[in-house]
Amino acid sequence: MTDATPTIGVLALQGDVREHIRHLEAAGARAVPVRRRTELDAVDGLVLPGGESTTMSRLLDVYEMYEPVAARITAGMPVYGSCAGMILLASEVVNTRADATWFSAIDMSVRRNAFGRQVESFEADLVVDAFGPEPLRTVFIRAPWVERVGPDVQVLAQVRASDDREHIVAVRQGNALATSFHPEVTPDVRVHEYFLDMVRAATS
Ligand code: GLN
Repeated sequence: MTDATPTIGVLALQGDVREHIRHLEAAGARAVPVRRRTELDAVDGLVLPGGESTTMSRLLDVYEMYEPVAARITAGMPVYGSCAGMILLASEVVNTRADATWFSAIDMSVRRNAFGRQVESFEADLVVDAFGPEPLRTVFIRAPWVERVGPDVQVLAQVRASDDREHIVAVRQGNALATSFHPEVTPDVRVHEYFLDMVRAATS
């Protein structure tokens, strides 16, 4: 698997798949939708898109994809979760359905629909060192925030919410990256480039 151009899958059971594929290609990856086991086997990294985490959790079960994805994550495959995808990477989820499942790839507690009650959706310009010096336009849509992180988790970004407090909205632990916001809906591809670098580092 020492290809100069890594193949990155986007879990395509539900959510904003096409936008991630477009951004991954713009960042320089080969990008493919992943719905079944054989497609998962062919990728070097995986994006879990935004959408609805409880629906995605149910569809992972229906399509018998939960175990295969969990096994690849445990084996070290780089994974990036945005919004609902962040929720799927958490080790603890607050405010979700009793039957929802997730991957526990990042030692963090995530509150689902955390910004939701006050503002369904908002945008902010954030300077995120990991993604370079230019401010990043971040779009939050019924987004989660991170309430607790373990000692091995790197906090990449925080945002001030309408409760006037800073909340963690981007994190990395090893080969797992998660953002509360949706970089695939702005023209900026730096988050996808950062993830592509993680995939390159893991496959080299
Ligand atoms: N609120 C959604 C959830 O719980 C996430 C929203 C999103 O991905 N834009 O999954």
